[in-house]
Amino acid sequence: MPTKTKAPPTRRSSHETEAERRARVGKIIARLEKAYPDATCALQHTSALELLVATILSAQSTDARVNLVTPALFAKYRAAQDYAGTDPKVLEQEIHSTGFFRNKTKSIIGMAQALIERHGGTVPDTMEQLVRLPGVGRKTANVVLGTWFGKNEGIVVDTHVQRIATLLALTKENDPVKIERDLMTLVPRDKWTWFSHTLIRHGRRVCIARRPKCEICVINRLCPSSRV
Ligand code: SF4
Repeated sequence: MPTKTKAPPTRRSSHETEAERRARVGKIIARLEKAYPDATCALQHTSALELLVATILSAQSTDARVNLVTPALFAKYRAAQDYAGTDPKVLEQEIHSTGFFRNKTKSIIGMAQALIERHGGTVPDTMEQLVRLPGVGRKTANVVLGTWFGKNEGIVVDTHVQRIATLLALTKENDPVKIERDLMTLVPRDKWTWFSHTLIRHGRRVCIARRPKCEICVINRLCPSSRV
């Protein structure tokens, strides 16, 4: 008679209750905290303005690519006024390698002009004010609020967070705003910013799109999509 294989005790069943899912998320967080105790934003910056510009540049690009462009950019453009008064053609050339350079140029100049008109040239620290700036959506605002201002207002849902949240069965949604809402109900608020940075790092190093390294993943026993 064949021996029955015991299922991993902590892996999600297909009928997971809300309480079970919360408990599983708690274990996922504990394991990720050990693996990535210092996870933080990979975009280099020394001010809220630099982080805002870098985050706008990171859309459809990689942080590594943005980090190649920003040292020269930040040395030249030190304040919102510098971006607001620049020739778009010059800025387009300077950020060309990050892709979508025309739209990004428009966003950065428009954002800088709005900062001067509405906020005296400084970056505001509320979600409401940030998302009213040209080129700044909830994702960008979350990066700036969480990373620079230390405010857990939401969870950054980029391509890595979206993919891993789905693989972990923490959401059934496709829309980043709805995914964020699902994650905000499962992850304790004081962990929101860290959780985003951590999933992004995990997505780059281990849970890589199309070739996840489940065999070395610290949360494989808690993941319903694990291949091991
Ligand atoms: S077990 Fe595999 S699919 Fe699940 S999070 Fe880890 S690497 Fe990704």
